Amino acid sequence: MNAPILRRLDELRAMTRPWTLAGARIGVVPTMGALHDGHLSLVAEAKALCDRVIVTIFVNPRQFNNPDDLANYPRTEEEDARKLRRFDVDALWVPEPDQMYPPHFATTVSVAGLTDVMEGAARPGHFDGVATVVTKLLSQTAATDAFFGEKDFQQFLVVRRMAADLDLPVTIHPCPTIRDIDGLALSSRNLLLSDRARTRAPVLHDEMDRVADGLRRGGDFEALAAQARARLEKAGFSHVDYLDLRAQENLACMTSPDRPARLFAAARLAGVRLIDNIAVNDQIAL
Ligand code: AMP
Repeated sequence: MNAPILRRLDELRAMTRPWTLAGARIGVVPTMGALHDGHLSLVAEAKALCDRVIVTIFVNPRQFNNPDDLANYPRTEEEDARKLRRFDVDALWVPEPDQMYPPHFATTVSVAGLTDVMEGAARPGHFDGVATVVTKLLSQTAATDAFFGEKDFQQFLVVRRMAADLDLPVTIHPCPTIRDIDGLALSSRNLLLSDRARTRAPVLHDEMDRVADGLRRGGDFEALAAQARARLEKAGFSHVDYLDLRAQENLACMTSPDRPARLFAAARLAGVRLIDNIAVNDQIAL
């Protein structure tokens, strides 16, 4: 069934008020649209755990530090609504920009520490934009549960910290990264890759796997990372922004995986910036 598409906050509140009064679990899946199977896995998890499910679609200008990236970001609302039909969600929240950022809007939610590194360092202001919009989306939707992909692991940690620090009455659920058959993590930005670049893109995950295997065999991280960077550049990646081994819990830098660790990478291929991360030792509960 087609879910109603709500664009104004008063419509959304009218819909969620009775759900909240009835004590329903309201699951929310925040997205920027251009939905793929990664997003849909979050929707399936929300449907499994919650009484009501709202998918939000909002291309949030405040989390883009590059105007071209914002302008080029794929927008496919009709197609997104069609993909959601089989999940029978209760509503799509697709706010008009003025519903999110009315004139005189002056508040920023900023999470310290976790945002200093990787995506935070590479994209100034990005996580302030994310934390601010997610705080608003969770408040607007009266979410009791919210679902985030491990694909953006740093984002998941930032959102979880923000929700805990602000005492938001919501559980933040991490969901595993969904990959294409060749290992490339699904991402809306993959649509921007040329056919030629798309065939090379899985090298990022291949090289990360190779580093993780090397670490499990006791290899030296710096040496493994240097080899991976060289192979990525040979495969056509123009720049590796970072290839870091970090503690899963707090993103502290590590050189050997002596506690739960993840390997994180960001690299540019034919003008498209790809990010990925994988666990390098046994997963613990997040
Ligand atoms: P986005 O639309 O890129 O902002 O992503 C919306 C949500 O979907 C975020 O929580 C992402 O982490 C999640 N997501 C994006 N790609 C994937 C993927 N390949 N597997 C799982 N979750 C994903």
